[in-house]
Amino acid sequence: HAKLEGRNTYRFFTPQMHAKSVRALQLENAMRRALERNEFTLHYQPQICLHTGEIRSVEALLRWQQAELGAISPAEFIPVAEDSGQILQIGEWVLKNAIAQLQAWHQAGFPHLKVAVNLSAIQFHQPQLPELVGRILQESDIPATALELELTEGVAVHDPQAATQTMDALRERGVWLSMDDFGTGYSSLSQLKRFQIYKLKIDQSFVHDLDHDSNDRAIVSAIIRMAQALGMQTTAEGVETAAQLEFLREQGCDEAQGYLFSRPLPAPQIHALLSSYQPWITPQASNTQAH
Ligand code: C2E
Ligand code: MG
Ligand code: MG
Ligand code: MG
Repeated sequence: HAKLEGRNTYRFFTPQMHAKSVRALQLENAMRRALERNEFTLHYQPQICLHTGEIRSVEALLRWQQAELGAISPAEFIPVAEDSGQILQIGEWVLKNAIAQLQAWHQAGFPHLKVAVNLSAIQFHQPQLPELVGRILQESDIPATALELELTEGVAVHDPQAATQTMDALRERGVWLSMDDFGTGYSSLSQLKRFQIYKLKIDQSFVHDLDHDSNDRAIVSAIIRMAQALGMQTTAEGVETAAQLEFLREQGCDEAQGYLFSRPLPAPQIHALLSSYQPWITPQASNTQAH
């Protein structure tokens, strides 16, 4: 029985594992055609400034509607794309499309909006990445400062020195670097400071139970205070309730993103939302209890 072998040893090829690998192969094959068949789209989710209530930026989130298999979640297909190397081509498509879309929004009357793009560690480790990002920006009319790149904590684990060089090269081109899913991986705040990470995105797993888990409240509050001390911004991910929002604002979190404000939406719906948006958060400046 597999259980007797311990959690980390896989001696047997279980039916479950077989099913998984067949599915992965199926996705990998379908993905080869996905770009040319226009099966990928980007949805965008607003990031709301908790000091002014304004939409500062939108995060581009990849969607795949496959002809036979239907909608496939990025949580499932991104790892497959990373394994097969297809993430490089797909990631370049995401960058180009997100920047083209942002340019359209800038021209449509929202010149201060920023876009955040997720980068896979595989993309990050490509030596040509800073050059690619620079070229895509140059071919567009948007300033580099309108682009945020979201990295995950894993990128710096194996070779912090190479990672520092890549981050420096990206920052020199003017883009902002954020650390996604912060708190779930391995990284120290002092390391992030050295990397000149601009923003920590507090992972939604800490936000989810804020209302009834005092450990999560302590963790979130500590992350915010340490980020403030080191001059970094914080964004809370997965904010779904008014109570979570209230706690985050009390703690001085800078931004929030989550279903409470908006689900990720197709570009036309984001345009409609931007056009009719009224900041519904009371600006923190008017809060007399502010620190
Ligand atoms: P992420 O970058 O941490 O993105 C946030 C995820 O949380 C998104 O899932 C978003 O839809 C979801 N989310 C936002 N607000 C809420 C909320 O209030 N409650 C809950 N429960 N969930 C919320 P999504 O779109 O399924 O993406 C999952 C992950 O896939 C992303 O996590 C990111 O790591 C990856 N991903 C998505 N698009 C790309 C891409 O273009 N490139 C790369 N490399 N990875 C991507
Ligand atoms: Mg992200
Ligand atoms: Mg995240
Ligand atoms: Mg994530």
